[in-house]
Amino acid sequence: MTASLKLKQGREKPVHNRHPWVFSGAISQIVGSPQPGEVVSVLDGNGRFLAHAYYNPHSQIRGRILSWEENETIDENFWHSKLQRAIAGRAALNLEPATTAYRLVNAEADGVPGLIVDKYGDFLVMQCLTLGIDQRKMMLANLLATLLQPRGILERSDASVRRKEGLTAVTALLWGEAPPATLNFRENGLHFTVDLHEGHKTGFYLDQRENRAIVGQPNIVGGQEVLNTFAYTGGFAIYAAASGAGKIVNLDTSASALTLAKANIELNGWQRPDDEYVTADAFQQLRAYRDNGRTFDAIILDPPKFANSQRDIQQAARGYKDLNWLAFRLVRPGGWVATFSCSGLVTADLFQKIVFGAAIDAKRDVQILQFLSQGPDHPVLLSFPESAYLKGFLCRVW
Ligand code: SAH
Repeated sequence: MTASLKLKQGREKPVHNRHPWVFSGAISQIVGSPQPGEVVSVLDGNGRFLAHAYYNPHSQIRGRILSWEENETIDENFWHSKLQRAIAGRAALNLEPATTAYRLVNAEADGVPGLIVDKYGDFLVMQCLTLGIDQRKMMLANLLATLLQPRGILERSDASVRRKEGLTAVTALLWGEAPPATLNFRENGLHFTVDLHEGHKTGFYLDQRENRAIVGQPNIVGGQEVLNTFAYTGGFAIYAAASGAGKIVNLDTSASALTLAKANIELNGWQRPDDEYVTADAFQQLRAYRDNGRTFDAIILDPPKFANSQRDIQQAARGYKDLNWLAFRLVRPGGWVATFSCSGLVTADLFQKIVFGAAIDAKRDVQILQFLSQGPDHPVLLSFPESAYLKGFLCRVW
C-alpha cells in the first residue's frame, strides 16, 4: 500500500489550490513508512485523497506534489509526458534559430518540482534541486536524451538549496559527451560563449534575455555611456554594444566572468578599446564614482539574490536601497536606470517601495517606463507564486 501524508484539519487549502508544496507543519500523521524520495499520497484531515507527492523527511518541504489526479500513476510515462509538455511549450515560443540557449524545464512551474533543464545548443544542463529528482535523475536524463537527442547532458547540481534537502553538491556528466570548456551559443542573434562546467547557475542568466533586449535598445543606450554593474559575462553589454553604445563600463567581483565578457565582445566581431572592465565590489565602486563625481547615461543594476530566507529580507531591502540610491545619484538627468531583483522573497510591490525610497533620498524624479520580469521560457505558475522571482523596472531619471 502507498504510504501517505495526512494533513492537519484546516491545512488542506494550499493543496486544494494546487500549490505544490506540503510543509512539515501541515502534516498530522505519516501513515506507513515511506522511504526518502518515495511517491506518497497526500490525504486531507478525514483521510480523503488530495494528491500524489514525492517525500523527503529531511526537508521542511516534506512533500512536493506531482499530480492531483487520484488515478494517475507516477511512472516513467508520467515523467515523459511532463517533459514532453515542457519541451513543446518552449518550441512554441519560436526562440530558435536566433536564440539557441533557453530553459526547457522550469521545475514546479512545469509540473516537475525540483528539476531544471537548460538547453545550450546541442547540450543540456540539468539541475536536480530535490532528493526526489536526484533519485530519478538517470531516468530523467534518458527520457530527455530520447526526446531531444542532445550531444550530452551535464548535471550542475551545485545550488546551495540542495543542502535543505540533505544533498551535497554534484557536477557530473549524466549522458553522452561532456560539453567543451567553452561553448558558443546565440541569443537574439548575438553571440555568446559559456563555460557550462564552471559558470554560475547552469552557465548563463537565461532569465534576463528579454530584459537585455529591452534595455539594450538603440533609443536607450545608443551613443550613451553605460554602467553595467553585476555584469557577469557581459549579457547586457553585448546588447548595448550591438545598439551602438558609447563607452561601456562592466563591473563585477568576478575577474573570470569579466574575461568572458570581453571574449563575448570579440566573439561578435567588435573592437571596443574604450570599454572598461572593473573587478570590484559594486557597493564600493559606485561610492567611489560618486566621490569622484563620475556620471553615466544608463546604469544597469542586476545584483545576485540578496534574500535566501525570510530572515534576510530586511537586510536585502537595505542592500537594494543602497544600490538604487547610488545609481540615482550617478545617472545624468534624462538618463536611464534598469534595476532588478531576483530575490523571490522580495515581491514586486516591496521592490517598488524600496526603489521609491531610494529615489526620494537621492532627490530624483523617477518614472517607470516598463515593468520587467523573467523571460517566457521561465513561466510563472499561477498556483505557485514563488515561481515569479525576477522583477525589474526600466526607469527614466530626471
Ligand atoms: N547581468 C548579468 C547577470 C548578473 S548575475 C547577465 O545579464 O548575465 C550577478 C553577478 O553579480 C555575478 O556575476 C556576480 O559575480 C556578481 N556579484 C556578486 N556580488 C557582487 C558585488 N558585491 N559587486 C559586484 N558584483 C557582484
